[in-house]
Amino acid sequence: MAEALQVNSPESWWPGSSRPFLIAGPCGVESPEQINTVAKDLAVSGVSVLRGGIWKPRTRPGSFQGIGAEGLAWLKSAGLQNGMKVITEVADSEHVEQSLAAGIDMVWLGARTVVNPFQVQRIVDALQGVDIPVLVKNPLTPDLELWIGALERLNNAGITKLMAVHRGFTAYERSRYRNAPNWPIPIELKRRFPELPVLCDPSHIAGVREMIGPVAQTALDLNYDGLMIEVHPDPDKALSDRGQQLVPDDFRKLIQGLLVRNKSFDSVIAAASLEELRSRIDVLDHEVLQLLFKRMLLSREIGALKKEHNVSIYQLERWNDILQSRPSEANGVDPLLTRDFIIKLFELIHEESIHQQTQVMHKQDLPVIK
Ligand code: PEP
Ligand code: MN
Repeated sequence: MAEALQVNSPESWWPGSSRPFLIAGPCGVESPEQINTVAKDLAVSGVSVLRGGIWKPRTRPGSFQGIGAEGLAWLKSAGLQNGMKVITEVADSEHVEQSLAAGIDMVWLGARTVVNPFQVQRIVDALQGVDIPVLVKNPLTPDLELWIGALERLNNAGITKLMAVHRGFTAYERSRYRNAPNWPIPIELKRRFPELPVLCDPSHIAGVREMIGPVAQTALDLNYDGLMIEVHPDPDKALSDRGQQLVPDDFRKLIQGLLVRNKSFDSVIAAASLEELRSRIDVLDHEVLQLLFKRMLLSREIGALKKEHNVSIYQLERWNDILQSRPSEANGVDPLLTRDFIIKLFELIHEESIHQQTQVMHKQDLPVIK
């Protein structure tokens, strides 16, 4: 299946149209004063799109579920008074109808909605024939196809002012992030759909204020097209996502401190140095492949030995030994290599070894060293 999305370049429709595209505002709209105060400060910082959740899909009942439809007019009015477009989350077809009736300029589909294709389709059907920008957050689960599926459903209904928003993925393991960024997933999205603008939502990835800046900078280093950041006039009193909303002043400092990277080198000399360094890497990669091949040959020989003596392939002690010794050895070679990376690398190598040995056990036709 040929992959393509019909995307209308944001340069032609984004208000103010300067990169990186910025969306900021509170997690949830709480009162006319709250949204208006924050809008005023954000407009001064150059933000042209004001966010505010009206319906908040919360994990547990009993939390603030959003102010509901009456907040739409407050959001719209804060936008109008401060020269900004406004955006909110729609999680159902009624949300779409009410948002459109209130003159909301753009909508986004949240992470909890994008996991459910039936729900996405209900929203798409309600948007049929409407030419407003629609942003699609990644689904909670690290499932790229689900994310693409939601974008395709919208596209099939004629919506071309599309953007994806990376807000991190739910993980059962504890990590320093609220939602693990899993950067290779949005990078693969961008590789497959280069024309699709991708924003990053560092607030929901970080979960805590201090990490929002570093995550936002990483996104810009990776060539993201823009950012969606939660800003509240008094975050400690916010009714949702208290820990991850910035005060407008900190938001302004964060934006001013961000470094926007160039897409490519504009100096011929630097470009030539890049080429030279890359060609040296190409040579090393070739050596890495040769080494992997030699390692697998030995593994297959061990497979043949195990087969001959009827011994099981998986040897827990050996695997424990590798898991323990390789990270500390790696640290001696280069202290900058992270333990996580080395463990992942050897897990992959070990998995492939086991796979190859299984083949040796079951068939005869793999070459082994004689
Ligand atoms: C939000 O932006 O406030 C929100 C609920 O987002 P997500 O769908 O990413 O959790
Ligand atoms: Mn939020």
